Amino acid sequence: MSKPKIYFSRDEMQKLNTEKLLERGVKIEDIAVIAYNQQKKYNSSVKMEDCIESVEKILSLRDTFHLLQLGAEIDRLAEEGMFRGPIQDILMQDLGVFGVDEIFGLDIARLYGAIGQTNFGDIDVNKPGIVAKLNEDGKGDKPACHTFLDDIVGAIAAAASTRAAQIISEDTARTKKE
Ligand code: MG
Repeated sequence: MSKPKIYFSRDEMQKLNTEKLLERGVKIEDIAVIAYNQQKKYNSSVKMEDCIESVEKILSLRDTFHLLQLGAEIDRLAEEGMFRGPIQDILMQDLGVFGVDEIFGLDIARLYGAIGQTNFGDIDVNKPGIVAKLNEDGKGDKPACHTFLDDIVGAIAAAASTRAAQIISEDTARTKKE
């Protein structure tokens, strides 16, 4: 019997994360556009291509890989009624005071520091684009569960928005004349 594969390269993790998101109805562009719109409020020079590249980079990180793969599987297993006890209904109903899904989001956002976390807070409260869709499609008595995915997607957008700002800061530093 061959050994189970548990170590993945950055390229493999990015590919597996991209596929898992698509399986759950989320495209990279859906996440990048949230990052773009958030950063546009502070930096008019933000570029969509930097937001897409940032989402791809964040999807290749090991922490993101583990949190996204686990969170998306928790959602799927809840949809299939696989949990025992009250947690099955708590997950399916997307109970507002549950909070463990926000921990997953915060942990991804934390990769991009305090700004990453405050950007995640903004997206978590205002629910732009695909985050609102996931949240609405998975709430209450609906057959879908996106309890974890909406936070994971929001956090990746927040991290990408923060990274896009860092790219602009770097450009500014390089071009600034004394
Ligand atoms: Mg949630």
